[in-house]
Amino acid sequence: MNKISNCPVCGRLYVDMGLKMCRDCYEKEKEQEAVVARYVRDNPKSTVFEICEATSVKEKIVYRMIREGRFIESGVEVSYPCELCGTSIVRGRLCNKCKDNVVKQLQEQEAKNAALRDRKQGPSGKGMYSKNMGIDGHQR
Ligand SMILES: [Zn+2]
Ligand SMILES: [Zn+2]
Repeated sequence: MNKISNCPVCGRLYVDMGLKMCRDCYEKEKEQEAVVARYVRDNPKSTVFEICEATSVKEKIVYRMIREGRFIESGVEVSYPCELCGTSIVRGRLCNKCKDNVVKQLQEQEAKNAALRDRKQGPSGKGMYSKNMGIDGHQR
């Protein structure tokens, strides 16, 4: 079933047929992807930054092509910086070292959250007590 929504790229209403954007924008992106693919073929080992500079295609599109493995397929490895430490990587968003760190941090955070939850479930009613005592002389 087709549904009408706003194109996430240009904002116009369009009929969504699985392209996730309107046909105009889709065609435009296809064109840009072709430009990027051509550039990468001619300039293997380019970084994403170099590709964007040379083709003036949005980083987002280049990254999506990387995620889809478009460059690896053609035997070209496009390197780009790890989002955390800047090490050159060719797939994913983080280098292996940072990925390990992130996993470790998430586990620590999870442990901390669990500890916090336990503390919150501790003895309650303390706030009520001090409020009642605050009214001077008029204890009911
Ligand atoms: Zn559009
Ligand atoms: Zn890293």
